Amino acid sequence: MKARPRFRSIALLLALGILLAPAAGLAAQAKSIILMIGDGMGPSQFGAAWLYSNRVLGRELRMVEVMKSGRTAYVVNDALDAIVTESAAAATQIATGVRVKMKAVGMAPDRKTPLKTILELAKEKGMSTGLVTTSGITDATPAAFASHVTHRSDEISVASQELQVGVDVLMGGRKQFFLPEAAGGKRTDGRDLMDEARKEGYAVVGTADELQQANGGKLLGLFNMGDMAFEIDRSKTAEPSLAEMAAKTLEVLAKNPKGFFVMIEGGRIDHAAHRNDAAATIRDTLAFDEAVGVALEFQRRNPDTLLIVTADHETGGMALFGQGKHSKDYVTAGLSVIQKAQASFDVIVGEFGKNPTPDKIREVVKKHLAIEITVEEAKVVANDTIRKLDPKNFSNATLHSLAFVLRPYLRVGWATQTHTASPLFAFGSGPGSEELVGFRHNTELFQIMKGALAVGQ
Ligand SMILES: [Zn+2]
Repeated sequence: MKARPRFRSIALLLALGILLAPAAGLAAQAKSIILMIGDGMGPSQFGAAWLYSNRVLGRELRMVEVMKSGRTAYVVNDALDAIVTESAAAATQIATGVRVKMKAVGMAPDRKTPLKTILELAKEKGMSTGLVTTSGITDATPAAFASHVTHRSDEISVASQELQVGVDVLMGGRKQFFLPEAAGGKRTDGRDLMDEARKEGYAVVGTADELQQANGGKLLGLFNMGDMAFEIDRSKTAEPSLAEMAAKTLEVLAKNPKGFFVMIEGGRIDHAAHRNDAAATIRDTLAFDEAVGVALEFQRRNPDTLLIVTADHETGGMALFGQGKHSKDYVTAGLSVIQKAQASFDVIVGEFGKNPTPDKIREVVKKHLAIEITVEEAKVVANDTIRKLDPKNFSNATLHSLAFVLRPYLRVGWATQTHTASPLFAFGSGPGSEELVGFRHNTELFQIMKGALAVGQ
């Protein structure tokens, strides 16, 4: 039967409306969202990993593959009460779209009114949810998506809230906040959240092998009492890589026909940069990049997925410079020297022991970094000179003096041991990613995700 002319024109108008919708500011619909956060990954960490990947490993970053789609935004991230932010405020702003005060998690500026997060909105829509990190799963970044506490240090409450909200996949370190004191944990309420999770139907795993074998719809992976190992040290542990965790997470969450929201964090880029440890920073950024590759492959197989890659803030004021110790020629950063590093500064400083002699310092540095520092340089480390010169910006014992002594060898400098106000990138692919262009405040990332899910409108 032929449609009558009036109905035909209505149908035509409707079709036109659908075609014009994106131009009118209505975001494209996404079934699922993968949000990836490189904690502490400013443009300089990204750039260092790009140089290392191309010049040492001979391959392009997966993040560059995403960026080349042309959807990249310049992102600023100031908090309500500070120009230099930290993970709790930054993640809360990304998760809720509200500019908040420092150190509170998932709370309005009054520090006591919970803000609804993108994960909670997805949950209300019947979607599955996940949080994955190499830091603690109770650390500020994952916490801000599924919990609400006055101060980020309240990780005991974060752990119970994450399970109470019913996040389907939780993976990372800091098992200590899931176990009672009697079992070697930090919980003062006597609860064993791992046991409770098992009763709620979670598969609970603690090693890379157990993770491989896990199946079902809910997964709690706790791989370390503290943070997971730095990537550079990981081979000595039974811990999975961030890419392995990402792959398993996507496999589990993709079972829900209503889609999912997941936040996957490279949590230790920040920690390595706090220690001014260039090799560990680059390796953890590359581990994050590998996880981005897993997400990108998923996004390509499931084009109705919005993939966003960003950071919460820059850490350390990292800078690669060109001049060497004995020449003013631009001789390039010491990538081949960085390549030889076998251990994180944590391992190295641990091996120095208490009050190390310059000889001991020279021996340990040579063993793990293949660098022969001079006796004079070893004395700077032994006396912890840099910390004495600027004790607030460089407060970790020995680490920053070591980093300063290594400057001429690695040709990597650090402005501070804390965060900086450096702007960031956000880039992505899939429906909604067309919004990731130009100049954005990190609070707008929430609006972009919410728009893509068409929730709460
Ligand atoms: Zn940090």
